[in-house]
Amino acid sequence: QRAAESEARADKPAEYTGSYPGNLFMVIAPSGAGKSTLVNALLEHDTAIRLSISYTTRPPRPNEKHGREYLFCTKEEFAERRRKGEFLESAEVHGNFYATSRVWIEEQMRNGRDVLLEIDWQGALQVRKQFSNAVGIFILPPSLEVLEDRLRKRGQDEPNVIVRRLLAAGSEIAHAPDFEYVVINESFPTALNELQCIVAATRLRCASQYARHTELFMQLGIHLPQA
Ligand code: GDP
Ligand code: ADP
Ligand code: 5GP
Repeated sequence: QRAAESEARADKPAEYTGSYPGNLFMVIAPSGAGKSTLVNALLEHDTAIRLSISYTTRPPRPNEKHGREYLFCTKEEFAERRRKGEFLESAEVHGNFYATSRVWIEEQMRNGRDVLLEIDWQGALQVRKQFSNAVGIFILPPSLEVLEDRLRKRGQDEPNVIVRRLLAAGSEIAHAPDFEYVVINESFPTALNELQCIVAATRLRCASQYARHTELFMQLGIHLPQA
């Protein structure tokens, strides 16, 4: 029985290595699905999650502010930062470059913070290679017609930019099965509640609970598998 037990334990995923106690959430969606609106509402109620501010070469929209939505930079600055290895991941999306800061994420994770990334599917797969227990949540629109309607009504992009994003939506949506969770953003309150449930369940994963409550686990005589 012992042999069977240790064999089962040897199969435990890397998350039990307990290398960091924070949770890493990745929210992925085609443009206009409601990703930023949902994430902003989530963060309003949940101050324990920190949002990573990405670098981008896209020009700011009328309502965007440097350092709030993005760290806006030139293609040259972006290329230089990438060359220096400053990015955890980077990707070209709709003709612009986007990237996540490596130093910032690593510092947050080291300090046990929960971090949320709003990134595209290509970047999310790169992050997963480095943080195997990152949780991917794909936001779907209720239909392509609704997606188009939301992009137009948002009124923040030029018509040609909207067309480009709609054309990309189909192939982006095809990547939903690469991730753990799918939220369909039809009714906003329902979708927000579902997102909050995913966050709550992730925090209750055994490895996460162990990392946060190691002393209690030890007092109770619970031994987790060795790395
Ligand atoms: P939105 O999708 O309409 O909000 O438009 P944006 O221009 O803000 O984002 C376009 C795409 O780039 C979306 O799929 C974002 O998730 C993605 N994106 C934003 N930041 C990053 C990042 O740091 N890395 C990667 N790989 N993708 C990003
Ligand atoms: P994304 O970040 O995915 O590109 P946004 O968060 O900017 O998308 O949302 C696109 C537009 O759709 C915004 O104008 C937003 O107010 C609207 N929106 C988001 N979710 C819903 C919803 N459930 N019902 C109706 N409109 C929505
Ligand atoms: P400041 O220049 O005041 O330190 O930062 C301005 C804004 O950019 C803040 O919202 C801060 O959170 C964000 N920021 C600064 N450096 C980084 C970084 O390396 N990565 C990310 N994701 N955000 C950063």
